[in-house]
Amino acid sequence: MNHEQSRSLYDRALSVMPGGVNSSVRATQPYPFFVERGDGGHVIDADGNRYLDFVMGYGPLLLGHDLPEPVQSAVQQRAAEGPMYGAPTEVEVELAEFVRRHVPSVEMTRFVNSGTEATVSAVRLARAYTGRDKIVVMQGGYHGAQESTLVEGEGDHTAPSSPGIPPEFAEHTLTLPFNDAEAARELFAEHGDDIAAVLTEPILGNYGIVHPVDGYHETLRELCDDHGSLLVFDEVITGFRVGGLQCAQGKFGVTPDLTTFGKIVGGGFPVGAVGGRSEIVEQFTPAGDVFQSGTFSGHPVTMAAGLETLRYAAENDVYDHVNGLGERLRAGLTDILADQAPEYTVVGTDSMFKVVFTRDADGTQAGGPCDAGCTQDPDCERFETCPKTGADVKRAETERWQRLFWPAMKEQGVFLTANQFESQFVCDAHTEADIDEALEAYKDAL
Ligand SMILES: *Cc1c(COP(=O)(O)O)cnc(C)c1O
Repeated sequence: MNHEQSRSLYDRALSVMPGGVNSSVRATQPYPFFVERGDGGHVIDADGNRYLDFVMGYGPLLLGHDLPEPVQSAVQQRAAEGPMYGAPTEVEVELAEFVRRHVPSVEMTRFVNSGTEATVSAVRLARAYTGRDKIVVMQGGYHGAQESTLVEGEGDHTAPSSPGIPPEFAEHTLTLPFNDAEAARELFAEHGDDIAAVLTEPILGNYGIVHPVDGYHETLRELCDDHGSLLVFDEVITGFRVGGLQCAQGKFGVTPDLTTFGKIVGGGFPVGAVGGRSEIVEQFTPAGDVFQSGTFSGHPVTMAAGLETLRYAAENDVYDHVNGLGERLRAGLTDILADQAPEYTVVGTDSMFKVVFTRDADGTQAGGPCDAGCTQDPDCERFETCPKTGADVKRAETERWQRLFWPAMKEQGVFLTANQFESQFVCDAHTEADIDEALEAYKDAL
């Protein structure tokens, strides 16, 4: 593969953009390929190379790169009528009504412009609503580039995970290992009356893909109820993907107090949203006094793209298609691993997937492979050793994944998220032949 154009674009980019990119995960080694255009389930780079795309914009693209006619024409019409106004539009109401119809925990929605902005606003809202300062996040969870959740450490011994954040922010943020109900009970026993909210992804999607152990979300729900804290599900990745239109909370049958959305709900345009019971969400200005505002919030082009994408998904068998392909891919990967790397773990559900390069340090990894994606099934022979937290994923062969495996897949024309941690996605434009082609590439690269 020739990468001359990408190389020279990166050379220019390094002079004018930090690290040559506008989002850090894009800076792949030795340099990223620059995309010229999308084509269904593929992208084509500046040198004309074509890749089977499982990055899908890091999550927003449920349908792939070719927008179906109704989505395309709605976007073009909104843009032609003037991109935005600083006054409300009907399409905002329609999208909020659509979300309310399909996600039972959501009565009202405030649209914002990114997942980060959604979690910032949700944390402010939860703190104001409860009159408390502390929030709890999962170690290895991700809630965007915000001061209150960029923390590291355990329990109440936390520190900012980035320079530039005053330690006072971390003092108000406690952390828990995902899937550890006992740790959650202990933390609440000590700090419960000070906790405004527990913020968690229903499935960790930015640190490998870690499925919840059965009953874990129910434990969090119960602890929040007992202590007057809010349960906030960050469904920026899982929303309108896992569980289809009802989102992951519908799939798991757990009702959060607040939900943050992003990615798919904007149909490929910048978006975020905070949804929940009216009584809480109406604390936002101007209905209440918790300040929240944004020049671009509820942007008509974004709202039209989101609404038409979700309508298209509702009216066509998009979720059946992508989930079926996801299953085919995960099952195929399971077979390949059994042959070539039995210590590795296939993770993911619905249209999310990843292979975690789990180590088998003492050579005693028990049992056969899990079935088409780890679901933390206690009856599985590998239950004791499968990755249950972000830390477990971090202990995997992350260097091998990034330095050897990812480039090998790229050279075979398969574009994966660039490190061990971020989820990969199947889209509606993918076909069974694409999945089989991807499996051949895995066979070769593993
Ligand atoms: C992507 C993501 C965010 C951040 O969203 P941005 O739009 O990148 O700001 C927050 N939470 C989760 C779970 C995400 O996957």
